[in-house]
Amino acid sequence: MNRVSVSPPLAFDVALELAEVFASKRSRCLGVQLNQDAEECLRYWPLLAHTINNLGDPFGGGRGGHLTTFDAERELVQLVGDLLHLAPADRWGYFNPGSTYSNLHGVHLGMRRLRDPILVIADDAHYSLTKAALITRCRHVIVVRTNPKGQMDFADLRAKLVAHGPDNEYLFVFCSGSVAKCAYDDVAALLATIREVGVAVSKMHVHLDAALGGLITPFLRGEPLALDFSIPEIDSLSVSFHKRLGIPLPGSLFLARKRVVDNLPRSPFVDYVSCHDNTIGGSRDGLSPFITLHQLKRLGRDGMRQRTDDCLAKATALVEALRAERIDAWKNDHAPCVMLPAPSPELAAKYHLPIFRRGDSAFTHVFTFEHTSTEGLMQFAAEFAADCRS
Ligand SMILES: *Cc1c(COP(=O)(O)O)cnc(C)c1O
Repeated sequence: MNRVSVSPPLAFDVALELAEVFASKRSRCLGVQLNQDAEECLRYWPLLAHTINNLGDPFGGGRGGHLTTFDAERELVQLVGDLLHLAPADRWGYFNPGSTYSNLHGVHLGMRRLRDPILVIADDAHYSLTKAALITRCRHVIVVRTNPKGQMDFADLRAKLVAHGPDNEYLFVFCSGSVAKCAYDDVAALLATIREVGVAVSKMHVHLDAALGGLITPFLRGEPLALDFSIPEIDSLSVSFHKRLGIPLPGSLFLARKRVVDNLPRSPFVDYVSCHDNTIGGSRDGLSPFITLHQLKRLGRDGMRQRTDDCLAKATALVEALRAERIDAWKNDHAPCVMLPAPSPELAAKYHLPIFRRGDSAFTHVFTFEHTSTEGLMQFAAEFAADCRS
C-alpha cells in the first residue's frame, strides 16, 4: 500500500494523522473518477506560505499588482488549448474550482448569446447542468435518452428536435466521458442529426462537457476520438484536472472560442482589480493553476499517453477477471471505467462504489486510475465474486 511521505518538521501532527488515514483508504477508492495519487505535488509546498489570489480575468488586461499566477494560468489555457485543438488566435479561458463552474459558464455563455434557448442535455448528463439551468433561469430543458452504452441517442434527439422545430434556439451540451459509464458522445453524428432537422448554426450554442474525457482523448494512441474544438460547432468546453492529473485541490479549465466571448457586450471594468472580468468567480485559487501547469508539463504528452495506456490496460484486465468469475462486467472503448452489477452495501462501502439505479436494475462502476494497482483490482474481483455468491 502506498504511504504518503511528509517530512515531519514541515507538517503538524494533525495533518500527518489525517494524511495517514487518507493513505490507508485511497487504494480502496475505486468508484469515484479521481486520480487520488497527488504525492508528486508535495514539491510545491513553498507556495503554501503565500496567499495567491488570481482575482479577475487572466485575459482581462489587468496587470495584477498583487501575488498572482496569471502567467501560469494563461500558459495553461494555451497548453490545454493545444491539446484540445483550439486555434491560438481564438482562445479564451480560465481556471475554475471544478467543472460544475465550467459547465455553469458554458450554459451562461449560451444563455447570453441566444434568446430564450432550449437547453438540450442527455438523461445521463452530470447534475451540474440542471443546476446551471436553474441558476441561469433557463426555462426550457429537453432531456434526450442515452443508449445502453451511455451515449446520447440520435433517434431520440431527432424526434425531440422535430417536435420543437428548427426555428427555436438551442443550447446543446454533449459529453466526452460521462459520469456513470465514461461514455463518449458521437458529437459529429449528433451534429449531422441537428443539421438534418434544419437548426441553423446561428441559432445554437454547443458546449462540450469534457470534465472527464478532456484529459483522456488527447492521449489515446492515434487520437481515435475527435471530441474537442476540431469540431467547428463546439463553442465552449469544460475539462477537469483532479480526475486525471493527480493534484491536491479540485480544478477545471473553462475554454471558449474568443470570438464568441468577444461578440458579447464587454463585462464592466472593475477598478479594484483593474481589468474587465469575464470570470464567474471573484477571488480565485492561484496555486492550483500553477501546480496543474507544471504537472502537465513535467508529465508531457508521452507521460500522459503512458498513464492513459496503463489505466485502460487495468480496466481491460479487470473486465477479464470479472468475466472469468462469470460476472457480467463490461466497459466502453477507450474508457478506464468498468461497469458491473451492484454489490452488497458492505462491499460498496468498503470500495467507495456508487450505486446507479436504472429502472429495475442497478449497477456500479470502477475507475482504474493511478492510485489503483493490478493486484488490488484482482483482489477486488475475487471479493466481488464471493460477495455475489453469498
Ligand atoms: C466530474 C464531472 C463533472 C463535474 O465536475 P466537478 O469538478 O465535480 O464539479 C461534470 N461532468 C462530468 C462528465 C464529470 O465527470
